[in-house]
Amino acid sequence: MKPKIVVVGSSNTDMIVNVPRIPHPGETVLGGEFTTAAGGKGANQAVAAARAGGDVTLIACVGGDMFGQRAVEGFARDGIHVEYVARSGCRPSGVALIFVSAEGQNSIAVASGANALLSPADVRRAAGAFEGASALLMQLETPLSTVAEAARVARRQGVAVILNPAPAQELPGELLRRVSILTPNESEASALSGITVRDEASAAKAAAKLRQRGAGAVIVTLGARGAFVADAQTGQLVGGFRVKPVDTTAAGDVFNGALAVALGEGRSLLEAARFANAAAAISVTRRGAQPSAPTRREIERLLKTGRAS
Ligand code: ADP
Repeated sequence: MKPKIVVVGSSNTDMIVNVPRIPHPGETVLGGEFTTAAGGKGANQAVAAARAGGDVTLIACVGGDMFGQRAVEGFARDGIHVEYVARSGCRPSGVALIFVSAEGQNSIAVASGANALLSPADVRRAAGAFEGASALLMQLETPLSTVAEAARVARRQGVAVILNPAPAQELPGELLRRVSILTPNESEASALSGITVRDEASAAKAAAKLRQRGAGAVIVTLGARGAFVADAQTGQLVGGFRVKPVDTTAAGDVFNGALAVALGEGRSLLEAARFANAAAAISVTRRGAQPSAPTRREIERLLKTGRAS
């Protein structure tokens, strides 16, 4: 049986223009190529979890426009339950406008649109989705009051709460105490703990501080190096997989989606982090957010052979 995962979060359409260089204010740059890809941290994590083997329900809000329509069609193709994806008539779907320069630098503007409307009431209406779920997975691209309510609903029903605190913002102690596993990257761990995270030792310190403040376990993702895992029993680095990176967009999202599935299947935190490292490593070898999330078969192949393809 597939583990049931509830994801509460954002859905965006990424509109990407590849340009020779990022335009300055007032400047027009010619010669770009335009692509679109499904994105938004919540939706990315939902897709990653579904492909990794989860039975996923997404609680989100999109606009009544073509972008929202396409996003929902994409979720359904991945087998994600979409009955709690609300359609707003008054706000457009979330969009990220992204310039990528020839050197790989980027510049991003996000219009949250309908994501800002995802409310605590939407979560309460979806309370049935939490029944029998193994985990609730969240990020911080939707209102904090909604994230806090979802954590409350989940804990009341005995569901573990995984919070990817991205983009970083101050977290109330009440929310942090409801978080079973907090999964910041280096810069988020630094912002949240006040300790500059740059290696294993500083990740350990930051994780200890965040656990003191209430998080049950902390996993600090460390890019190509893998992830530092800290709970009451352990504090150790789980090494990453060596791959040729092409585009690291959504690496953290894929890590979180896969982590939730592995834990739901009963793996230990360390084993789950290894599974998540494998999924995320494959994603960095591909372009785009949701298009880069690997299937279960691809993850298992990397775990077995050490090779991504
Ligand atoms: P974010 O994408 O949120 O900034 P990280 O950069 O820490 O987060 O990446 C998340 C995870 O993705 C890492 O823990 C690792 O498993 C994987 N990862 C990221 N970059 C690489 C890479 N260059 N090679 C292999 N795995 C990577």
